[in-house]
Amino acid sequence: MTEVKNVVIVGGGTSGWLTAAILAKKFSDSKSQIQITLIESSEILTIGVGEGTFPTMLHTLQYIGIDEREFLKTCQASFKQAIKFVNWRKTPNSQSRDYYYHLFNAPAQAQGIDLTNEWLAYRGHKPDFAHAVSAQAYICDQNLGPRNLEAADYSWKAKYAYHLDAGKFGELLRHHTIKRLGVKHKIMTVAKVEQNEYGIASVSDGEEEKISGDFFIDCSGFASLLIGKALRSEWVDKSKQLFVDHALAMQVPNDKEKIHIASSTISTAQEAGWIWDIGLQNRRGIGYVYSSAYTEHERAEETLRRYVGPAETGLSVKRLTMNVGYRKQCWKKNCVAVGFSGGFMEPLEATAIAMVETAALLLAGSFPEKKEAIPAVAQKFNQIFEYRWEKIADFIKLHYCLSERRDSQFWIDNCKRSSISDALKAKLELWKYFPPSENDFANKNEMFGLSSYQYILYGMGFQPDLPLGIRSLTNAQKAEQVFSAIRQQGIGAKDELSDHMHLVSQLSGRH
Ligand SMILES: Cc1cc2nc3c(=O)[nH]c(=O)nc-3n(C[C@H](O)[C@H](O)[C@H](O)COP(=O)(O)OP(=O)(O)OC[C@H]3O[C@@H](n4cnc5c(N)ncnc54)[C@H](O)[C@@H]3O)c2cc1C
Repeated sequence: MTEVKNVVIVGGGTSGWLTAAILAKKFSDSKSQIQITLIESSEILTIGVGEGTFPTMLHTLQYIGIDEREFLKTCQASFKQAIKFVNWRKTPNSQSRDYYYHLFNAPAQAQGIDLTNEWLAYRGHKPDFAHAVSAQAYICDQNLGPRNLEAADYSWKAKYAYHLDAGKFGELLRHHTIKRLGVKHKIMTVAKVEQNEYGIASVSDGEEEKISGDFFIDCSGFASLLIGKALRSEWVDKSKQLFVDHALAMQVPNDKEKIHIASSTISTAQEAGWIWDIGLQNRRGIGYVYSSAYTEHERAEETLRRYVGPAETGLSVKRLTMNVGYRKQCWKKNCVAVGFSGGFMEPLEATAIAMVETAALLLAGSFPEKKEAIPAVAQKFNQIFEYRWEKIADFIKLHYCLSERRDSQFWIDNCKRSSISDALKAKLELWKYFPPSENDFANKNEMFGLSSYQYILYGMGFQPDLPLGIRSLTNAQKAEQVFSAIRQQGIGAKDELSDHMHLVSQLSGRH
């Protein structure tokens, strides 16, 4: 038997440092002697975007031992309770601007009735689904924080994740992982990769520096040095389904007089994509994700600058190219790809960092201590990841393909059946007659469960034809009381919860 003693991670972006931290914590808890070395280049920069997270981040930070207040302060972070989708359903005009929320809180439960079915049956869609079933929609509308100052760290009244400064998060993770978790750090630009019977044998700068390992983790970003260039793992292209391929990113300082920051990511649909708007303590991260097949880069920049308004003057824009798809085998031989090198499904639902957390935790939980164990563990890992990538692609497509927008070819083509996967088409067909239920999300590897689908479907105006079996069970009178209580709770939340900006400033020790 050949033991795995040395793990080498290539890449020091969010994926490299998060993976290093999670593995190092696991190895130290299990008293394992495995040594981790992380190599990063000082010449090739990290992507520097990626500012919205999943609620899983609370667990991850706690697990690796980062204090929440230290994190909020260092990363200029804020709370994220939802994604607010603006103008996705209909083409905006001077009179109308639609929006809906994908909330982190699941729809409220009421004894004896199903609130979703009640809303579908009788409410005439007023208020909209999210406001009908969750007080969190009102909490977001009022820019309130998800908890109070006095509450224990990492606890919530309304479920949350974070918005963060990706560069500062990388620095915090690097410092924490080296100083407190004992990961070795090496600055080197990998120019040469040597292979042996197990897969990757060593990486070197092509001259005198060479680092050997038993197991390699490719976190080299879109360069995909190990899994792509060296091991040639097949790339599954998703660009026929998800059209966006570029992004323009801008950092807009907060107005000194500004007293509010949103506690949701704001995603506003545009003629060839969408603009993200993420409020941090000191600035907003704003960017346009678009398809270069449907707009010119110059026009995209004009669109972004128009969105930002007068504050754009003098600010630079960074253009990024995105590969949308995934590796059929994220794990090949003795190498696992985590982060961009393994796949990316465009940032609409901020899934990338959550996929890094998932990959690192899964790897930590089933780390092969002997090389002979690798093929079996890899097979399982690849099955899980292929499933997850496909489901993420479908969930993101759902936002586009239900739109009633026909103002540009981008939206027209996004609704063509040929751009929708068979699996998603089958679900949409079923849900025309039976609204989605837990039975449709039985696999524990779903990244998005029933409530996420409900928020998007009903937010986008999807209307199932309720069968008599469901309609006959509804109780409009009781439902009305529950909807009214949710509304009161939501509006009244301002008496219980602090203003979001005030809360993060206090937690960060800035007041
Ligand atoms: C427009 C946009 C918006 C996004 N928004 C979100 C979001 O809101 N939420 C979210 O979860 N995700 C988001 N993402 C994804 C997120 O940015 C990435 O998942 C995250 O940054 C991880 O990137 P990475 O570490 O894989 O790669 P990178 O950040 O590109 O890091 C690659 C690392 O590899 C190193 N490297 C490369 N080549 C070599 C070499 N030859 N030798 C040595 N080292 C090398 C580099 O130095 C660097 O350290 C977004 C992505 C884009 C494009």
